[in-house]
Amino acid sequence: MSGGMSLIPLMKMRLVSPARIVDIGKVPGLGDVEDRGDHIAIKALVRHAVTATHPLVLQHAPALAQAAAMTGDVQVRNRGTTCGSLAHVDVAADQPAAIIAHGGVAVIGSSTGTREVSAADFCVDTLTPDLAPDEVLLEIRLPKMGPGEGAAYDKLGRRGGHSDYAVAGVAAWVKMSGGSIVDARVGLTGVGTKPQLLHSVAEALIGTDGSESAVAAAAERAVDGVTVLEDLYGSEEYKAHLAKVFTKRAILQAVASVNA
Ligand SMILES: Cc1cc2nc3c(=O)[nH]c(=O)nc-3n(C[C@H](O)[C@H](O)[C@H](O)COP(=O)(O)OP(=O)(O)OC[C@H]3O[C@@H](n4cnc5c(N)ncnc54)[C@H](O)[C@@H]3O)c2cc1C
Repeated sequence: MSGGMSLIPLMKMRLVSPARIVDIGKVPGLGDVEDRGDHIAIKALVRHAVTATHPLVLQHAPALAQAAAMTGDVQVRNRGTTCGSLAHVDVAADQPAAIIAHGGVAVIGSSTGTREVSAADFCVDTLTPDLAPDEVLLEIRLPKMGPGEGAAYDKLGRRGGHSDYAVAGVAAWVKMSGGSIVDARVGLTGVGTKPQLLHSVAEALIGTDGSESAVAAAAERAVDGVTVLEDLYGSEEYKAHLAKVFTKRAILQAVASVNA
């Protein structure tokens, strides 16, 4: 347990009944965002509220700062952790979509050492991270943003606004050069079985000028390869529609932020 904002509800709903709980909340040295030269590191006990406002995150992972600011309410943001959100792999969690769009890497530790895995691969399936029983997520590394890069997150929350789990949420990161998109990553949440990268959308974007028509055409591919789940908040058709709408919005905001 880190913040307990997902583990305690799961226990109250009797979905999990752990024999033992190890609370890492007071382990020293895990509460910082660090500048590591070419990347920043968000350590295991960094709360959503810190991720949302930390100058290094705002500068180098703006889609993640936005997703953290849109996570739950003020109490949840003051307790829950960004690493806990990634480790939980909720189908509708906000921050994992942004972490994968920023090209994040999960650093995993155990008594035998550490290993690194891309955050996209770390999200194996619904509520299933790439973690063995004796491993913890120590930190998330995010490459620093360079010239020509922009990123944004946008979502529809379950009660219509921003401050709730995503019915559909999309994070986009783009790199532009000479008026064209030369690289892109788009992360989707709330729609499929896990937060995931939309490879077809990124492929369709690269080489375009990032205009509204080009972005709209790429966004049409938002559910290619995605197993769209119907749930209490929408039918398959509605969720697929939302995925396209928010893919377009997030990419356009990311492109606009390049020159802002
Ligand atoms: C009322 C409410 C509203 C919410 N709204 C939103 C929302 O709008 N958007 C959203 O994305 N989320 C929302 N959440 C979930 C919230 O963001 C959680 O804080 C987050 O999902 C989990 O982080 P945590 O630190 O609380 O993890 P915990 O609850 O402590 O742990 C969650 C799971 O991850 C594991 N875990 C935690 N940290 C680590 C680690 N470092 N290494 C390995 N495993 C670890 C735990 O073992 C557990 O299985 C909401 C929660 C509540 C209670």
